[in-house]
Amino acid sequence: MHLNVHHKLKPEKKPMKSALCALCGKSFVSKQSLARHNNAVHRKLKPFTCTLCDKSFSWKTGLTRHADGVHKKLKLFSCTLCDKSFTWKVILTCHIENFHKKLEPSCLSDINGDSDGAGLD
Ligand SMILES: [Zn+2]
Ligand SMILES: [Zn+2]
Ligand SMILES: [Zn+2]
Repeated sequence: MHLNVHHKLKPEKKPMKSALCALCGKSFVSKQSLARHNNAVHRKLKPFTCTLCDKSFSWKTGLTRHADGVHKKLKLFSCTLCDKSFTWKVILTCHIENFHKKLEPSCLSDINGDSDGAGLD
């Protein structure tokens, strides 16, 4: 990799779409991203397995989010209108709509099975 610094103010990394998915035609900046896309989307591989339970994920971010929310029980999303905080943004949004704005609980299906917010605090 060489960096061309002679041209004025050229952004260093211009996206060179060098890899093309043969199955869906999407283009990717690198062969690695293509391989990751192919594994996750087309081969449905889930190489990221949680060490604490048996769930596996296609993407590292999915695993991280799962571990943070389910195992570490991080609550990153705090309600600005009361003291509650929630693991998932969607639940916070849902909470605000339900509890504070008294809106139709359109998002309740998203939090079924997750007891967050029904909590003890
Ligand atoms: Zn594809
Ligand atoms: Zn897990
Ligand atoms: Zn609240």
